Amino acid sequence: MARVYNFSAGPAVLPEDVLTACAEEMLDYNHSGMSVMEMSHRSKVYDDIIKEAESDLRRLMDIPDNYKVLFLQGGASQQFAMIPMNLMKNKKAAYIITGEWSKKAWQEAQIYGEAVAVASSADESFSYIPDCADLDIPADADYLYICENNTIYGTKYKKLPNTKGHTLVSDVSSCFLSEPVDVKEYGIIFGGVQKNIGPAGVVIVIIREDLVPQECLPGTPTMLKYSTHVKADSLYNTPPAYGIYVCGKVFKWLLKNGGLTAMKEYNEKKAAILYDFLDESKLFNGVVRKEDRSLMNVCFNTGSKELDDQFVKESKAAGLDNLKGYRTVGGMRASIYNAMPLAGVEKLVEFMKDFEERNK
Ligand SMILES: *Cc1c(COP(=O)(O)O)cnc(C)c1O
Repeated sequence: MARVYNFSAGPAVLPEDVLTACAEEMLDYNHSGMSVMEMSHRSKVYDDIIKEAESDLRRLMDIPDNYKVLFLQGGASQQFAMIPMNLMKNKKAAYIITGEWSKKAWQEAQIYGEAVAVASSADESFSYIPDCADLDIPADADYLYICENNTIYGTKYKKLPNTKGHTLVSDVSSCFLSEPVDVKEYGIIFGGVQKNIGPAGVVIVIIREDLVPQECLPGTPTMLKYSTHVKADSLYNTPPAYGIYVCGKVFKWLLKNGGLTAMKEYNEKKAAILYDFLDESKLFNGVVRKEDRSLMNVCFNTGSKELDDQFVKESKAAGLDNLKGYRTVGGMRASIYNAMPLAGVEKLVEFMKDFEERNK
C-alpha cells in the first residue's frame, strides 16, 4: 500500500486513524453484526451514532444551546437556495463576493429576491478580502452572506464583517473545524464536509433557533425547509448515514488531538512553512494578499503555464498529488486541511526547492 500526500481541495485527505477505524468496523459495527452502511437509520445503534456526532460537534465548536445542528444532503450548493428560501422575509439580502462560491450563492439568491452585492474583490481576481468595516448594507436586508474561506482563490476573512446588526450567514465549507469560532457571531454557519471533515454527501448547517422560520417563500419544498429537519433531528428522511458516521469519527479524532485550538496552531505551523518558502522563492509566487492568506488552501504559480504543468506532473510522480489549481484559475493549489500531516507540507516544500534549483 502506498498512500500519497493528497493536496486535493475536496473531496480531500482524511485522518488515517479514522480510515483505519472505519475499515476495522466495516463488517461488524460495535457487535451489531452489520456495517453502518447496512443498518436502519431508525435503529438504536444508529441513533447513538448520530446523537454522539452532534454532541461531539457541539463540544468541539462550543455551540450554544439556542443553535440547532443539522446533517443534510445536497452539498453546500443546495444551501445557496435553501438560505434565501428560508430567510428572505423581506425578499432582500446582502452578499459579499470574494470568489466563485459566493458568486454562485449570490446568483442563486437572485431567483428568490433582491440580492445586493455590497462588496467584491473581483477587480483584482479575488486575490484579497474587501474592507468590510463599513459596508452599505440595506437596512431591510434579511442577512449578510459571506464565504469565509475561498477554496479556489486561497483567501480567508481574518475578521468578520461589521454586519451592522444583520444576521451573518457564512459558508465555511473549506475552513470548517480548522480553528475555533465564536458561533454566537453567526446566524447560520454551513459547509459541505468533503473539504475538511468527512466524505462527500453530508452538509452541516448550524442555525440559530429563532432563524428557523415558521413560513418559507411560497413553493419551498418540504425537504428544503429548515423546520422540517429541525423537527425531525435530521431524521425526516434517510440521512447520509455512513457519511455522518465518518464525520463523527473525525470529531472524536479532533477532540483527542486537542480540539480546535490545537488544530489552529498546527494549521498555522503547516501554512507558515509553505508561505515562508513562497516569500523567499525566486520561482514561485504566492498569489493572494498576505494578510488575507488562507491556512487551508495555498495558491501559487511560477508565472509560466509550461512550468506550472511540469510542476504538477513531476510532483504527482513524487507522491504529492492533486496540486493543480482550479480549472478556471490555473497555477497550483495546495490544500492543507486538518488531516494533512506536517510531514506532507515539509515534503512539498522540499520538492519545490528542488524544482526551483532544477529550473533556474
Ligand atoms: C466546495 C465548495 C462549495 C460547493 O460544495 P458542494 O458540496 O459541492 O456543493 C461551496 N462553497 C465552498 C466554500 C466550497 O469550497
